[in-house]
Amino acid sequence: MSTLLVSQPNFESHVTPSGHPERADRIRAVETALRHSRFDGLVRKNAPGTDIALIEVVHGPDYLARLRAVRPAEGIGRIDEDTFISSGSLDAVATGLGGALLALESVLLGETDNAFCAIRPPGHHAERDRPMGFCLANTIAVVAREAQRKYGAERIGIVDFDVHHGNGTQDIFCDDPTVFYGSSHQMPLYPGTGAPRETGVGNIVNAPLPPGSGGAEMREAYLERILPALADFGPDLLLVSAGFDADHRDPLAQLNWGPEDFAWVTGKLMDFAERCCEIRLVSLLEVGYDRDGLAAGAAAHVAMLLDGTMGELTLA
Ligand SMILES: [Zn+2]
Repeated sequence: MSTLLVSQPNFESHVTPSGHPERADRIRAVETALRHSRFDGLVRKNAPGTDIALIEVVHGPDYLARLRAVRPAEGIGRIDEDTFISSGSLDAVATGLGGALLALESVLLGETDNAFCAIRPPGHHAERDRPMGFCLANTIAVVAREAQRKYGAERIGIVDFDVHHGNGTQDIFCDDPTVFYGSSHQMPLYPGTGAPRETGVGNIVNAPLPPGSGGAEMREAYLERILPALADFGPDLLLVSAGFDADHRDPLAQLNWGPEDFAWVTGKLMDFAERCCEIRLVSLLEVGYDRDGLAAGAAAHVAMLLDGTMGELTLA
């Protein structure tokens, strides 16, 4: 097995206001955890830049122009009450996307079995016509579309275990029978979408979890709902929106997952990819706001991707 870790050299270029939970320090926590000797076997690459106009494959025609219009020449501009754009944010978006596309190419060409991209800003809340929820562009949606456009993949599976529902990814693909979106998320919680009745054209599976629930409820959601539906869909490629804010320490949500739960769901997704997608799995970091919870969850996730076991990880 081989696993690619894509790092983003300019993750600090997207600046949010002091005290904002989506901050550059999150990536530092992930990078520090993944420097441990446990991860010596990773293939490591830096994200290259890419043309930000690529986001138009999933966003509306004037979306990028509107982002550029609110981007300040210096300092930080405000998009909505919790979503901000700084002078360097679009450079960060372009590089994060470039990294995700590098991971896609590596996995589709068989250079590595799977990949994890430690990138920001996150993307799964960005809808076709609206940036929101700390997200400026929907990176995983662009990756799914590029897999089809550039590499001829036909059916793409996206699984999202971030604690928040990926309303943006659902919005972009809700009428597209070639893309599956399955999400576990806390409900009620921001952004308020993700009820089981939201099924798109039969390609959307939402498995909401109640506040205070933990690994047992999560396992049931995947074993009973998300994984069977994913198997019925039959993707060529599996993409993962990997958020680690379901961790019990996270300040923005109330689920009680630990690193072993992120490892478990990762293992199930890998088993699925091995059986159905020629192993091909690309995982993109969404969020996680507790520094230790994020680091421990991401370490468990990447350890599994690397060799299918938590191994000798010392996890907080
Ligand atoms: Zn989240």
